[in-house]
Amino acid sequence: MAVIEKRSLKRKVKQLGLLEHKFQDNVVVASMDKLLGWARSTSPWFFQFGLACCAIEMMATAASRYDLMRIGMIPRSSPRQADVMIVAGTVTMKMSLRVKKLYEQMADPKYVIAMGSCATSGGPYWQHGYHVLKGVDLVVPVDVYIPGCPPRPEALIEGLLKLQEKIQAERPLTKKTA
Ligand code: SF4
Repeated sequence: MAVIEKRSLKRKVKQLGLLEHKFQDNVVVASMDKLLGWARSTSPWFFQFGLACCAIEMMATAASRYDLMRIGMIPRSSPRQADVMIVAGTVTMKMSLRVKKLYEQMADPKYVIAMGSCATSGGPYWQHGYHVLKGVDLVVPVDVYIPGCPPRPEALIEGLLKLQEKIQAERPLTKKTA
């Protein structure tokens, strides 16, 4: 009995390591630019803060059901440790200066996602909301806009994947950007 168990365990271990023992010792050749682009695009840490209702969708996206960490997105509480700022919610005039300040505290290279119609253009407040900024791109440069009020978690994930594509296409060493 013990022998049979040992054999089946060995078979399972073999099945798990599909790539194991499939290659000889080898060398992978790629440009340093591409390797850096790949590494940076698969580990963008995002700044964890929310401004209004869109932030609830952002939290849901980071929670267990959608699990943002699957695509390398890890939340950070400090702008100094973050690569991506997700502006999730209504940016009031009062808050806009704080958003700009937080953006400036992030280290380069840094990216911004405008999540939802408020962050993109003022949303439901675009006409009569005297207190609302008509798009966060008036104070910080935006890389990806995600439409919706609020956008669903799938939309946010799509936007983040687009950002990852953009980062991957960058060539930081040769200074060419996508
Ligand atoms: S876009 Fe809609 S859901 Fe998002 S913060 Fe504005 S009003 Fe709220």
